[in-house]
Amino acid sequence: MTVTPEQLRALATRAEALTAELWALCGTVQNGSAEPDPLVAARQAAGWLARGAEDLQLAAADLARLQEQPCGLPWGVCPEHGNTLNSSAGISTCRVCQRTWAHDRLRRPCDETATWKVIDRAGTVTRMCDGHVLGARAAAGNATFVRLGAD
Ligand SMILES: [Zn+2]
Ligand SMILES: [Zn+2]
Repeated sequence: MTVTPEQLRALATRAEALTAELWALCGTVQNGSAEPDPLVAARQAAGWLARGAEDLQLAAADLARLQEQPCGLPWGVCPEHGNTLNSSAGISTCRVCQRTWAHDRLRRPCDETATWKVIDRAGTVTRMCDGHVLGARAAAGNATFVRLGAD
């Protein structure tokens, strides 16, 4: 079974709700009573739950980071405009937005985050970044484009 960041976030939300409920139920300390407070442990539990909710959010964020995969196609693109790079003397420039990179981006594997799954007619799946998908949409008319992590 694969754990997704969404599942962890859902659990964190439930822990937060439980914390709020517990506080609403036993949050107010009765002053002026000489009796020992019977709800000390319950309030402590609310504190632990709040802490647990925070840790779950952290774990979800860690997991999301780990699951980010680079695009990895063997040439670079402009993240916004796709196959629009010119490369000369070790500097790459986008012909559309004029953004420059101080390396030969065209001849380096793409290190943008993969945000799309592209399935071609033969069923081959390639993960691509936004910029590469622009080029692929133009080139591969019959491919299926699925946005990653959009569920
Ligand atoms: Zn550009
Ligand atoms: Zn790419």
